[in-house]
Formats: sequence, C-alpha cells, structure tokens
Amino acid sequence: MTSDIRVRFAPSPTGFLHLGGLRVALYNYAFAKQNNGTFILRIEDTDQARLVEGAVENLISSLQTMGIDYDEGPGKDGEYGPYFQSQRLDIYKKYIDELVEKGFAYPCFCSRETIDEMRKKAQKEKNFFKYDRRCHKFSKEETQAKIDAGEPHVIRLKMPDERIFTFNDLVRGDVSIDVKQIDDQVILKSDGFPTYHLAAVVDDHLMKISHVFRGEEWLSSTPKHLFLYECFGWTPPLWVHLPLILNTDKSKLSKRKNDVAVETYIEKGYSKEALMNFIALLGWHPSEDRELFSMDEIVKEFSIERVSKAGAVFDITKLEWMSGTYFRSLDLAVVAEYARPVFLEAGLDISDEAKFLRAVEKAREYITTAGEILEHVEMYYRLGELSAEDQEMLDNEESQKVLAHVVERYNTDGIMSDDEINEITKASIGEIGIKGKKFYFPIRLALIGKGHGPDMPSVYNILGKEEFLNRLRNAIK
Ligand code: GLU
Repeated sequence: MTSDIRVRFAPSPTGFLHLGGLRVALYNYAFAKQNNGTFILRIEDTDQARLVEGAVENLISSLQTMGIDYDEGPGKDGEYGPYFQSQRLDIYKKYIDELVEKGFAYPCFCSRETIDEMRKKAQKEKNFFKYDRRCHKFSKEETQAKIDAGEPHVIRLKMPDERIFTFNDLVRGDVSIDVKQIDDQVILKSDGFPTYHLAAVVDDHLMKISHVFRGEEWLSSTPKHLFLYECFGWTPPLWVHLPLILNTDKSKLSKRKNDVAVETYIEKGYSKEALMNFIALLGWHPSEDRELFSMDEIVKEFSIERVSKAGAVFDITKLEWMSGTYFRSLDLAVVAEYARPVFLEAGLDISDEAKFLRAVEKAREYITTAGEILEHVEMYYRLGELSAEDQEMLDNEESQKVLAHVVERYNTDGIMSDDEINEITKASIGEIGIKGKKFYFPIRLALIGKGHGPDMPSVYNILGKEEFLNRLRNAIK
C-alpha cells in the first residue's frame, strides 16, 4: 500500500536536465521511496515559445541513466494524468473561468508594448513594477464587448491590495512576503495556454501533491500560489524550497562558469554513482560525518530537516575526487561497462574479455573519468611508434644485452607469480651488471612503448605470458 505522500518533479522541457533539476528529482525520489509514497514526473510544457524538440525524451532518458524512476508520468499513466500540461488545457480553462466568475481574476487587453512602457516608466522612477490594473476598471459589458470583438487578451489574477503572506517552509521555517512586491500575475496567456503559476497549482491540487520540492527561486512566487489555493478553497501542500546552487565565487550556478547539463557530465565520463552522490550533498547534510553515499543510502538517510537554507557551492574538484573514488571502489563489472565503449571507440580489440578486465582493473587506479582509461590501456593493445631517441636507446648494445637476457629468464615453465617476476628481475640485474634506468627503460620500451608505466608484474599479467615474451623478442634486433 502506498502512503499519502505524493511528490512531483515538474520540469519545463527546455532541452536538457539541469543539475538543479536532478537534485529536485533525487530529493523527491528519495523522499517518496522512504515514505512508501508516489513520485510523479509532470512535464510543464505550457510555454510554447520555449519548446525544444526532443527535450522530453532527453529529460526522461537522463533520469533513467541516473537511476531515478518515477511512478506516474509520461508513459506511466496513473489515475491523475495526463502528465503533460499541454494536454490539460480544458482542465485549466474550467478553473480560470471560475476565478473570473468569482472576481478573483480579470481579462487584461493591454498589449505587450503598453506593458513594456509601464515597466520602463517604473524603472525610470525607480519604482517596483506592478501592472496598474487599468483593464480591471472596465465594466462587465465593456469587457464582454471587447472579448466578443476578438481583442487579444490575457487573464490576470487580482492579488489582494494589502496583505502579508506568511507560510511555513520545511527548510526555512516561517517566511513572510508582502503582497506589495507582487504583481497581478498573468494566469492565462493570449495563446490560450495557462502560465506556470496557475497550471502548477491546479495540477498539484488535482494530483494530490503533499510536498512541493523546488528551487529557492520559486520562494517569492509562493504567495501567488497560496492566494490561488485560497480562491479555490483548497489546502496548499507543504513547501520545501531547496537552497540555490552556487558557483565557487558564490554567484548563482551558471552556464558561463560551469556545465549545468547532467548529460554533459555523463558524456564526460564521470561516474554516475559519484554524480548522484555529489548532487545529493548540494544542500543536504547527512547526520554522519562522511561523504560517500550510494543511491540506496541516500534514499534511506535523506531527510528534509537536514536540508540547509544556505546556498550550496558546486565544487567540481569534489566531483572529480568522488568520481575517481567510485571508479576505484565500484564492482569491476560496473567499471567495465564504463570502459567498454571507450575501448571500442578507440578501435581496441576487446574480444579477449579476461585481458580487457585485467586492463580495466589496473587502469581504474588512475582515472577520474571513463575516457581517461584509454591512456592507461592502449599500450596493452598496440604499441605506438617510438621516438627516434627512444628507438636509439632501445637499439644500443647495452639495451639489447638486457633484452636478450631477460627474454630467456622470463621464459619459465608455466606462469610466473608476481613474486617470481620480481625475483627474476632483481636477479637479472645482478647477472648482467646493468641496473637502474639502463635496465628498466629498454624493457619498458619493448613491452609498452614508453619508458615509464606500471610495474612489471602488472604488465606481465595484463599482456599474458605469450604477448609479454613476444614483445620483448620483437625488440631484439
Ligand atoms: N516548471 C518549473 C521549473 O521548471 C517547476 C517549478 C516547481 O517545481 O514548482 O522550474
């Protein structure tokens, strides 16, 4: 049985999933899961001018990639659908008519130019801009005549003249906002689509939303929403306004200073587990003093009480650290799935699965993003051309002596253990009397095409005995 907890993530499909959106989705998801509630995805696509093709698919696939499933929403019709606002216009119309009838809203025939002029004038006089309600003065008959004559118009909510709206926010406590700072909000646009404010309130009510999680930037709109609830005689949901996400210089997270699209981080090859963990901590402070949380742990530990109101600084170095840490600690099979496309794209033949896994296991020690794997594994699949200097070094008499010696010594019956390799290496140094760089450099050049790299046992294990010996042999003139 599900509980009465019903929450929603209500993005406007502007093209991609924003990091802030991912956080809202994650907190909603965690909160719904831990309370046996329902998590709804609602697409707020009432702004026809901002529609982007493929945006909804993108959004859904980013959520899927991040492991956030919704219970109701596009493709998962529940009893409260449709979940696209553009398919709910009749519903909004009915409620808007009700507001007009009751005198809580009124048609406004002012053109955009007229409004712009008013705005400019207010700016010049350094006044807070508010629509002057000139259309509210028309009589019922005058209004109807204009509508009948087909004059384009919007519908505005008539906010109270004097009032301080006080409401409780589960993150901020009591919040008071003076209605003086609030305009008569447009609730129906001239194209027949409602605005966010009206549509969100109607939907949150009809969809029985219990808690509204959203970014702090919506805090100042809450009185408009509360007023709508009041006009309709509905009980508002509980409010959970999440702190702003900030650039390191404390300005609001922006495209200019950081990538803001979730898919960019996925494309860049950060571990999704790390990204999720990192996003979870942007504003939520777990009770324990630790930083690494799996999705299951986030779901278990998340609590609204521990969401802070202070802005959360987006520190990319922390994400990098987390991503590397996850790549080192995740199951090898999981890391292998990050690595597979990287190998394939680089044209490396991974038909030998065991070798592929050995290479990934070694490479993951060094990486922050999946793409970085390549520079740590390519050498096991193909040897690049040596520089003239390295080739000369490899061909000189001493190097050739080293190679000729070790190729015999490493060619044991069976497979060498790490200890055996180390012992034979050490013994060889004594046997031929060549040590340090003069000993190791040619061996490494022969084996991996560069003078520095992983230790000998790692190279032997990853290449396998045959390939290891072949590479040494090939370097002998
Ligand atoms: N459509 C709004 C947005 O994309 C949703 C705000 C809300 O959750 O109420 O920000």
